[in-house]
Amino acid sequence: MELIIGWLYPNLMSTYGDRGNVICLQRRCQWREIEVKVVSLDRQTDTTQFARVDLIVGGGAQDRQQEIVMRDLKGAKAEALREKIESGTPGVFTCGSPQLLGHYYEPALGQRIEGLGLLDLVSKHPGIDAPRCIGNVVFEITASPLAEELQAILGTKPVVIGFENHGGRTYLGKVEPLGKVIKGYGNNGEDGTEGAFYRHAIATYSHGPLLPKNPFLADWMITKAWQQKYQTDLILTKLEDSLAIAARQAMLHRLELYNLIATI
Ligand code: GLN
Repeated sequence: MELIIGWLYPNLMSTYGDRGNVICLQRRCQWREIEVKVVSLDRQTDTTQFARVDLIVGGGAQDRQQEIVMRDLKGAKAEALREKIESGTPGVFTCGSPQLLGHYYEPALGQRIEGLGLLDLVSKHPGIDAPRCIGNVVFEITASPLAEELQAILGTKPVVIGFENHGGRTYLGKVEPLGKVIKGYGNNGEDGTEGAFYRHAIATYSHGPLLPKNPFLADWMITKAWQQKYQTDLILTKLEDSLAIAARQAMLHRLELYNLIATI
């Protein structure tokens, strides 16, 4: 029994340490003696590989790389990815990746990049003179049923701490936001939403990398992947996460969010 992590375009989409999300999933499985394999889903990959994966990780990318990815992620590959997400395969998609899962991304320069249209959202860069959205970001997960499931595990409301760096602004259609911003910009710096949640796909502007900083999300993904693949529940043993917790507390101190410190 094993879980297979599919890593989307590792050479093109892995800004701001997003590979840490892959390493985090891999290590948290290994520490519990769950066999795990990482496969690249990229330009060299045969479409059939897309169907094999149990977890998907997609990182951030610069505008130029996003264009290259979208030229490749068409036809059968796009369908295979769509099929995976629609069927409930858990995934974490950061920054440039959610932009590609939406209807389109308009870069600061050049042509609109058509997305997969899997998430009902659009992303637009307001232009090269517009300031980027950069900094530490804190948000509460509100998407249902994810928020309730995490609350049951944590015993407190799920608060995510990350780091964002994006020029594009994302506007949601009917898709549910992942959460509401407590500190930072989130999707667009205007409406207080951050990310999107669809089936078991977590879309976010939060690098961090996200999962090592918020390990409860990694465990949620592993549990879901197991249930999805083997149709049985997986009870995860608790890991020693004191360093991650201390890092989260340090960041809440730095951001002067003292009221949240007791909740993590
Ligand atoms: N190119 C996108 C933007 O600037 C995504 C950047 C990223 O993934 N970090 O909005």
